[in-house]
Amino acid sequence: APMIEARGLTKRYEPARSERRLARRGEPTSEGTLAVDDVSFTVEEGELFVIMGLSGSGKSTLLRMLNRLVDPTSGSLQIGGQDLLSMDDGQLRDVRNSTINMVFQHFALFPHRTVRENAAYGLQVRGVPEKERLERAQTALDTVGLGQWGHVRPQELSGGMRQRVGLARALATDAPVLLMDEPFSALDPLIRRDMQDLLLGLQAEMRKTIVFVTHDLNEAMRLGHRIMVMRDGRVVQLASGAEILAAP
Ligand code: ADP
Ligand code: ADP
Repeated sequence: APMIEARGLTKRYEPARSERRLARRGEPTSEGTLAVDDVSFTVEEGELFVIMGLSGSGKSTLLRMLNRLVDPTSGSLQIGGQDLLSMDDGQLRDVRNSTINMVFQHFALFPHRTVRENAAYGLQVRGVPEKERLERAQTALDTVGLGQWGHVRPQELSGGMRQRVGLARALATDAPVLLMDEPFSALDPLIRRDMQDLLLGLQAEMRKTIVFVTHDLNEAMRLGHRIMVMRDGRVVQLASGAEILAAP
């Protein structure tokens, strides 16, 4: 069975409040923004699935619907065989703790905590006892090549190293699904390549199911087992990198 099964996912952002006031007076308004329009796809367990498209094409909205940071207007969504859209807040919290982890472009690392404590943060919010979470954070830091840096503060690290702390934070939790929203876009090209290599290695080793959003074709081609291309909220192509290169 696929790890993620999305059917007809749609998100319409409502018009701004100022426009709703116009609407009540019967004046013309926009209909809001149809950010994601009837998108269906499945992601297999252990797949690295890339969502690619220009800015404004709906990638981020789609990714956020996968853990219900954004609630779909319509559609259905199963993750790990669970129906995400019928869950109440408590169930949602559980599934975010156990199954789905999100990695953003700009990690909020705590400046006054050590790198190891920062890497352990995802476990702290999940209620893991301190000794265990620091051990697991250390293992995750070892995995991303920062084993020696656990005791320093984030500001002593470079941007690329800080991004690896964020990755370690996500890896430490054992969640089988990782949602990544342009995690490397702010990095220098060379460091970005290192991070891509690191992610590919980790993914092969840990068999995580990863949904990775990027606007960068090279990054998509390097990382994606399959690439879903979006434009104006719709899927315009869903294929392997080789097939996309071969397309007319
Ligand atoms: P990025 O494209 O790097 O994610 P944006 O500047 O597009 O950053 O968006 C930043 C935040 O603003 C996001 O949370 C996004 O959902 C929200 N946002 C984007 N466009 C709009 C909009 N037209 N109206 C209200 N919020 C928006
Ligand atoms: P991408 O990630 O591909 O840049 P987004 O999902 O951020 O695309 O945005 C898709 C569309 O939805 C854009 O037109 C954006 O302005 C709009 N949008 C995004 N977030 C919001 C929001 N919170 N409120 C209103 N419109 C939004």
